[in-house]
Amino acid sequence: MAKVDIDKYPKASLDINIRWCKGCNLCVTICPKGILSLDELGKITVDKPEECIGCGLCEGTCPDFAIKVVKDA
Ligand code: SF4
Ligand code: SF4
Repeated sequence: MAKVDIDKYPKASLDINIRWCKGCNLCVTICPKGILSLDELGKITVDKPEECIGCGLCEGTCPDFAIKVVKDA
């Protein structure tokens, strides 16, 4: 699991384009908070969005650019 300094990142929300998600599971595996999973259709879903720390690992890992991390002001 990747190590992330959770105090370094502001809270963030995720802008997800479900149509581009192919269900490869990479983002689920790399998320240091373990808040991502695949739904019954094999599409990415955010289980606990309030726990996202905005580290950007999911966005950087997704081969299909389906996730965009938006920093909350
Ligand atoms: S930015 Fe992505 S990888 Fe990082 S905590 Fe949020 S959902 Fe998980
Ligand atoms: S890395 Fe991208 S394509 Fe793979 S499951 Fe996550 S959102 Fe979907």
